[in-house]
Amino acid sequence: MSPTQTYDAVIIGGGHNGLVCAAYLGMSGLKVKVLERRGVIGGAAVTEEFHPGFRNSVAAYTVSLLNPKVIRDLRLNEHGLKIVERRVQNFLPTRDGRYLLTGNGRAEREAAKFSAADAARLGAFNREIDTGADVLRDLVLRAPPNLTSGQPLRGLGELIKAGVLGNRLRRLSTENLRVLLDLFTKSAGDYLDQWFEGDLLKALFGFDAVVGNYASPYTPGTAYVLLHHAFGEVNGKRRVWGHAIGGMGAITQAMAKAAASHGVEIETGAVVREVVIEREHACGVVLADGRVIRSDIVAANVNPRLLYTTMVPEGALTADVLRRMRNWRCGSGTFRMNVALSALPSFTALPGSEPADHHTSGIIMAPSLAYMDRAFADARQHGWSREPIIEMLIPSTLDDTLAPKGAHVASLFCQHVAPALPEGRSWHAHRDEVADLMIDTVDRYAPGFKASVVGRQALSPLDLEETFGLIGGDIFHGALTLDQLFWARPILGHADYRSPLAGLYHCGSGAHPGGGVTGAPGHNAARAILTDWRWRRWLRHEPT
Ligand SMILES: Cc1cc2nc3c(=O)[nH]c(=O)nc-3n(C[C@H](O)[C@H](O)[C@H](O)COP(=O)(O)OP(=O)(O)OC[C@H]3O[C@@H](n4cnc5c(N)ncnc54)[C@H](O)[C@@H]3O)c2cc1C
Repeated sequence: MSPTQTYDAVIIGGGHNGLVCAAYLGMSGLKVKVLERRGVIGGAAVTEEFHPGFRNSVAAYTVSLLNPKVIRDLRLNEHGLKIVERRVQNFLPTRDGRYLLTGNGRAEREAAKFSAADAARLGAFNREIDTGADVLRDLVLRAPPNLTSGQPLRGLGELIKAGVLGNRLRRLSTENLRVLLDLFTKSAGDYLDQWFEGDLLKALFGFDAVVGNYASPYTPGTAYVLLHHAFGEVNGKRRVWGHAIGGMGAITQAMAKAAASHGVEIETGAVVREVVIEREHACGVVLADGRVIRSDIVAANVNPRLLYTTMVPEGALTADVLRRMRNWRCGSGTFRMNVALSALPSFTALPGSEPADHHTSGIIMAPSLAYMDRAFADARQHGWSREPIIEMLIPSTLDDTLAPKGAHVASLFCQHVAPALPEGRSWHAHRDEVADLMIDTVDRYAPGFKASVVGRQALSPLDLEETFGLIGGDIFHGALTLDQLFWARPILGHADYRSPLAGLYHCGSGAHPGGGVTGAPGHNAARAILTDWRWRRWLRHEPT
């Protein structure tokens, strides 16, 4: 029998949030172990070689939401992280020769090509989104007030938290409160139709509402997903998206170095099979190889449904919690490809294969909200949209570490595909067919693209689940809908990173504020863990 190891805290999963949580705990002097199932740390934020000589961010591919406090506290820049801006933000080509190019002060001029009224309204629209994004930014590093009954002392603390939040909202004007209500409840389509008439401009913003969100832009609640993609910044510039040199794996490698510098042990190839529960307390984990690791604190970086339906013994949970976790809604409608290219694409709308600003941008191939609505309807019926929504990024235009000289790598982030195919069909049987469709779709906007593809990697929702543990391929660890956000993430009464079982914490994207490479759930979970740890030590008369 292998010896039992003992730590103050074990983290299940070495995704970026697990690493952030571990680093903060290590900084406070805890003895911490991170257990990662894969052979590489980083979860959905990793860089890997997918074709000989070609490396890319395999899943997450672009950075903005990563919290500046996390970057500072973990000294990620000193640990090698460098984030650069795209030269322009977005390029929306059409097949009939029109295009929209935004970023660096271009948007109004570009919108005016299609509608003078839209150009005139863009400033006010951006101010409105900024209002919503500011509120969100203020909330991301705070634990939501926990709606609990009983426990009068804890309840008082939660009441104070709710009061602080209420006071923050009370300082907003009535008009801004109405804006918030719109953004938290409306469909992105209804919201954008109120503002603009140009299809491409609406598609630019509408894309953010369906990213990782298996829904039509006209589904109520999608305006929130748009807002969720607006609270970020790059190098102090708000709502800007950029690229981490070396790919998204450079972020998690820097986090791992930060954690290791505080004594955190990271083990890869370590599959957690079960959380050990004794007298309603989590007190360690059992690995697939039979090893037992004991610790007073267990923090789960994995999707809550994975945690509660496969790792926590069934009898440890109440029937109500178990039922809710079994019904935790997961499924993104995302198909992800990485392609190795012999040349840059030349678009019908903006020809030329020599590197140009638009090649550094997020290239959105989905020319209207109606197109996105049809993509969702088609995927629901057929299993995937035969006219999919694709964002393409070509990070090698900003980073020469990814591809051989003169060649390029592109990320294709494709929606909508059904998380599970109808009639019990398997994604493994249809992956290649859908991958061909994605390449053909890009080729329609940039003829010759298909011929330039020298290698490719395709990840269906099932591949995302099997490779990264993302249930239903859900990129956020659970849909970002009102019933699964804020004080309901992952379950009402347990939004403060403390699970229903003492000693077990949520530190991944299934906790507030949800998905994206933010580091926020990891940061917030560490704060809750440290508060409890200090209390426990104080009660036991141990030095804190
Ligand atoms: C295709 C795709 C594209 C995306 N694009 C972007 C983007 O461009 N920008 C952005 O900001 N966000 C993007 N996201 C979202 C973002 O990547 C995720 O929300 C985020 O990385 C989740 O981080 P996490 O640390 O919470 O969890 P994860 O990264 O999912 O980490 C969880 C870890 O737990 C491990 N694990 C699972 N089971 C076990 C087990 N039994 N034992 C031990 N370890 C286990 C997994 O292997 C994984 O490493 C994208 C996600 C995907 C999938």
